[in-house]
Amino acid sequence: MAKVLRCRDVGPDCDAVVRAETEDEVLKQAGEHAQSVHGLEVTAELVEAVRKVIKDE
Ligand SMILES: [Zn+2]
Repeated sequence: MAKVLRCRDVGPDCDAVVRAETEDEVLKQAGEHAQSVHGLEVTAELVEAVRKVIKDE
C-alpha cells in the first residue's frame, strides 16, 4: 500500500500529489516540494502538519 499526500490538504492551492512507499519518503519528497515550489522552510511544525494528512492509498 502506498502513502499519498495531496499538497492541497496542507493549505496551498496546489495540485501536486506526492506518492511513495513509506511515510518517511513522502515527507522527504514533500519537503523538497515545499521548498522548491512554495519557498517554504521545512520546520517541525510543517512536517507534523504534513504527516497528519498523509493517507494510505
Ligand atoms: Zn504544492
